[in-house]
Formats: sequence, structure tokens, C-alpha cells
Amino acid sequence: MARYIFVTGGVVSSLGKGLSSASLAYLLKSQGYKVRLRKMDPYLNVDPGTMSPFQHGEVFVTDDGAETDLDLGHYERFTNISSKQSDNITTGRIYSDVIKKERKGGYLGKTVQVIPHITNRIKEFIKKDITNEDFVICEIGGTVGDIESLPFVEAIRQFSNEHGKSKTLFIHLTFVPFLKSSDEIKTKPTQHSVKELRSIGIQPDIIICRSQQSIPLDQRKKISLFCNVPIDNVIETVDVRTIYEAPISFFNQKLDKQVLKFFKLKPKKRPNLNPWKKITKIVLNTKKSVNIAIIGKYVNLKDAYKSLDEALVHGGIANNVKVNLVRIESDNLKNNEIKTKLKNASGLLIPGGFGKRGTEGKISAIRFARENKIPFLGICFGMQMAIVEFARNKLKIKKAGSTELDRKCYPVIGLINEWDKDGKIIKGTDKDLGGTMRLGLYEAKLRNNSAINRIYKSSSIKERHRHRYEVNNKLKNQFENKGLIFSGMSPDNKLPEIIELQNHPWFIGVQFHPEFKSRPLAPHPLFSSFIKASKNHK
Ligand code: GLN
Repeated sequence: MARYIFVTGGVVSSLGKGLSSASLAYLLKSQGYKVRLRKMDPYLNVDPGTMSPFQHGEVFVTDDGAETDLDLGHYERFTNISSKQSDNITTGRIYSDVIKKERKGGYLGKTVQVIPHITNRIKEFIKKDITNEDFVICEIGGTVGDIESLPFVEAIRQFSNEHGKSKTLFIHLTFVPFLKSSDEIKTKPTQHSVKELRSIGIQPDIIICRSQQSIPLDQRKKISLFCNVPIDNVIETVDVRTIYEAPISFFNQKLDKQVLKFFKLKPKKRPNLNPWKKITKIVLNTKKSVNIAIIGKYVNLKDAYKSLDEALVHGGIANNVKVNLVRIESDNLKNNEIKTKLKNASGLLIPGGFGKRGTEGKISAIRFARENKIPFLGICFGMQMAIVEFARNKLKIKKAGSTELDRKCYPVIGLINEWDKDGKIIKGTDKDLGGTMRLGLYEAKLRNNSAINRIYKSSSIKERHRHRYEVNNKLKNQFENKGLIFSGMSPDNKLPEIIELQNHPWFIGVQFHPEFKSRPLAPHPLFSSFIKASKNHK
């Protein structure tokens, strides 16, 4: 049986449970163990797919098309293990499963209750789809003490009781503040948080203390004493200079060693931290920089484009250059402001998006990049807007648009059934917004001798999608005659996947989200190439 590591958080949220879990996973994996990471989210949404990035940051999409919490992005980036649908669950999903079963009479007349029915369903999730993994690291969202997280904490308590202490380990991540006025590090919030956890039946085995500065031995001893945890299992994590330092820092603090010791295991091989050391050095020391303008609706929210920001940094790592993200809010972006706003930009990126607000500004900016030969990368909505711009200004279809934004436009972008009259209708209606998108991994065939073919060094690729609307391929010849070629198509040749402009240094639009597959230790070729072109631009 796999060994289960449960990670809870206390005192405050945003302490970096995701990053800690991901770093631990990397360390265990690099010592020869098979690891899986899972996230349990206490909110009532069935999945984060319908949540605004304003509320919850980006929606991360997996190969198998699940719309998940952005922490799964951290997991993948640090471990290079592809997450699956079965790796993220929410309270909403748990309840919806239980209620569905109840309506079908699946509980044989019993009173359906949080304990045992909800907790049983959570325990099923924890074990689901696990085969030969050595470790399953399960992170519980939120903070201990929240009403919402209670059933999850109760479920992991039961799980440990049923499977035994030798198979389950509890890690609790807390905050250890430094009080300037008294020049002291305070352990009391940690003590309270552990007390809270113990009151619901869980004794942590390891406490990770997040702190702005190193925690002196005396304070660590205090935490050990009051929280009933061996001193070696009180691990500190001091703020790192870049997230890529996290695996190195946890290794130095012996987190992985203590975990293996707990399970009475030895490393199968020496962990390799050199790749992290190498990229940390690049990120911290590179002087040369390039400005990439990103125009989007949620640019002011830190985590709204998490994977994208990361992928651009990875592109910088590949080119030994620092990437400055110049975020431009698309709402109220006036046409006459574009020239000044893009003055110092070496590249323009229009990311994915939904809805009409701010689109005209994006379209004008794309025109500016096209006409002034500024490297341009359009992702999903960004590619769709590049098609609209080109149709209006080069094909002279003045009413060209996307039916997502304007039902009366000429649909250069639309639902398939809006333009694919003779072919097979793949999608029906846009009435139900939950779960009606093209999601997850789809193949694209790349045209020989195209820019994209050279970038990927392959004629077939698979990338992750998350969209409802498609480029109308009936206009393919018209676009291509004017120099915008459809260099990547779905295998049945129906759906344009990639567009590129000829006679331009670098102008590419992709219907998918390459950012989900970029890794710091393996930057995505599209981002590496985009940053290279931007570096050469200025
Ligand atoms: N709103 C567009 C669609 O649904 C694009 C989505 C996206 O950028 N992810 O097709």
C-alpha cells in the first residue's frame, strides 16, 4: 500500500502549502520513489472551472481535461508528474456525488450524514486511482479551524486510524511571525494552531514553520515541547529569493530525510538538486532583461495568469534573460494609448480570456504588433482576437467578430455549429457554462517548414485546451492568401490550432494553452522561442 502524507495549514492562508508539497514531492521522486500529489478544496463549487480568476486565481487544466486548482500547476511544474482529474476534489463535488447517490436510493433508506457518508466519500477519493505509488501527498486547502475544512480533517483522521500510523504522516504548516516592536519570534500562533488540530483528533508528525527569518533553537524547542513533536521534525522554511530555491531549502532543512525516517525508508538514490541550483543562479543573477507586455482583464491579480507568468520566466531561463512582465489592463484601454503603452515592449502577449470587456483594446494592440513587427504570441482568446483583427483589417470583413462577444457579427470565431453547417456538429449549445468546453489534451498536426514546425521540431504535438469557440476554417484560404497561415490543424483538418504570420519576425497564435506544460527545468519551446525573438527585437 502507498504511504499517505497529509498536509494541512494553520494560522493564516497563503503560506505556501502547495509549494511545500511540490518541493517534498520533487525530493522524494528524485530519491527514486513514485509520488502522486492531490488537492482537496473545501469550497462548494463542484470544480474551479466556473470561478472567476478574481476570486481564485487561474484555473489549471490537466491532460485529461479537468479544471482544477492552481496548486496542481505547482505540483506539475516541480515534479513533472502529470496530474489527473482524480487529483483534485472539492466539497461541492463530494456533496454532489453523495446527493446523487441518495436520490437513486443508494443509501438504502439510511439517514445520510456528514459522518460517515461525506467522510467515506472523501476517503474513497484519497485512495482512488492509486496503483503502484510509494507516496501520495494530499494537501488540504484552507486553514485548520475553518468550518469548511472540518469534514476533510475528520476524514484524514479516520483514514490514519484505519490504515495505521506506519502508512500515514501528518504535516502541519504554520506561520511563525517576527514582532519588530519586541524583536522576538513568536511561537504562540503555532501552538494554538496545533491545539486546534489536536482538538479534532490529529497530532502532527512534522511541523513546517514558515518564517521571515531563521528560527533560533530555543524557539524550535518550545514548538517541539508545546506541540508534542520531536525537535528534528520542527522544520523551518525561511522566505526564499525565488520559488526555485524551495526544493533546495527543504532539502537543507532535511524535510525529505525526516519523512523517509518516519516511514523507516532509505533513499534509493541521491537527490539531484543541481538543476534547481542552476536555474536559481540564472534567475537571481541575470542582468539583461526583456519587457513583455501582457494585455488582459485580470492582469492586476497576482495569481490570475500563474502558469503563464511562470512559462514566460521559464522562457527567460532558456535564454539567460530576465523577463519583465509589463501588465496592461485591457478594460478602458484606449486606441490612442497603445503606442505609448507598448513603447518599451519587446514582445506582446495576449492571454486566454472570456467575454467582451476590453476586447477592442486587445484587437488594436495586436494590429500595432502586426504592423510594427513586434513579436506577438496570442494564446487561445489571444489567437481568436488576432484572427478577428486580421479579418477586419486585411480581409476587409468589417463585421468580423466572435459570436461569444456579438451574436450579430460575421463569425470568424464561433461555436462549431454556427459555421460548420455541412460537417458533423461537435458542440451544441452555449447555455450550460459548466463542463461544455473543449478541455484537455488534443493533437495538432503541424505544417512542414512552418515556423511552428521548427519551434516544436515535430510534426505532431499534443497540448491542453480550454475553450468553447473555434476559428471558422471556411475562411482558411482567404487568410492564407493574405499571409496568415493555419500552420497547425486538428488531425481531421477541421479545427485551426495554430496561426502564424508570414513576413513578420514572430507572430503566432495558438488555440491551446502551452503554459500548462512548461516546466522550470524544461521550458516550453514556444515560450523559449517567443522570448528569444523578443530578446532579438530590442
Ligand atoms: N472565450 C474563448 C472561448 O471560449 C477563449 C477561451 C480561452 O481563452 N481560454 O473559446
